[in-house]
Amino acid sequence: MKDIIFGLSILFIASCMNAPESNPSEPERPAYTLVIHGGAGTITRSGMTPDMEAEYLAVLDAALDAGENILKNGGTSLEAVRDVIVLMEDSPLFNAGKGAVFTHAGTNELDAAVMDGKTLMAGAVAAVGNVKNPILAAFEVMEHTEHVLLSGKGAEEFAAARGLEIVDPSYFFTERRWKSLQTVLEKEKQQAELSEQEKHGTVGAVALDKNGNLAAATSTGGMTNKKYGRIGDTPVVGAGTYADNATCAVSCTGHGEYFIRYAVAHDVSAAMRHGGKSLASAAKDIIHTRLLSNGGSGGLIAVDAMGNISMEFNTEGMYRGYAKPGEREVKIYQDQ
Ligand code: ASP
Repeated sequence: MKDIIFGLSILFIASCMNAPESNPSEPERPAYTLVIHGGAGTITRSGMTPDMEAEYLAVLDAALDAGENILKNGGTSLEAVRDVIVLMEDSPLFNAGKGAVFTHAGTNELDAAVMDGKTLMAGAVAAVGNVKNPILAAFEVMEHTEHVLLSGKGAEEFAAARGLEIVDPSYFFTERRWKSLQTVLEKEKQQAELSEQEKHGTVGAVALDKNGNLAAATSTGGMTNKKYGRIGDTPVVGAGTYADNATCAVSCTGHGEYFIRYAVAHDVSAAMRHGGKSLASAAKDIIHTRLLSNGGSGGLIAVDAMGNISMEFNTEGMYRGYAKPGEREVKIYQDQ
């Protein structure tokens, strides 16, 4: 009997020694995390009516709800970012899907991308003019082709062949964006500086799910008055969109040419991977130091593998929000 008790005691002590150390000061990974943006730019209180502000906040809230419901119920980060972006593409308030800005030629050319942090698979479409939800076409490229990025007519035909909803290009027309183009064209005639707000916008979402998988998705109409055929950073993997379970998921918004040249989304991931930086410091560095000092305006949202988030921007505002179990925020201005 004594021997049995002695043996059991040894086993108990040994199992305690092998148990992984639980460090109460180490933060636990939340069950899920979702961060969204609706574009960065010259977004000021003085330029906003209370009604407009309420409308933006309501759509941001609804988008968070859509993604959070999926994540809460055990859905994947990819499913969450997809549904968030579809909802925001369908809202005329944001420069993506319905409500996209116009090219110089008076057309709408939309870009979108998705990336799966678990597999590093990605899909994107660029310069599509008749696909109601470009983000769904990006998913189709990722899931049903051996390619990453399809553009123009080829992307449109592929989307139709995959059974996605095709709309008449007039679907994307909104009076507000048309006026923006006319204002910009008029200002261009007068050689005036264009306000950032008139030039761009975009929607994005990044998420961490219960299995620790990260995903990023971004969708945009690009920049008002862009040349037709111009492709921005959004569908360029590593520029406007990036996800890697080992580091973070990132979705950008801003002056796309800078985000492409500085490989912004990948830069955040690389600074974490190779430089040992935290998500917060990597995001701050690229947005407030490197981009800003070189004239690149915009921002990003990001989440890392532990559910830490970043919502950095060097403009006056960025439509943004995040949700974690028991936490939620939606914001517009810089001083919030
Ligand atoms: N980054 C987008 C583009 O350059 C526009 C934006 O985010 O506002 O196409």
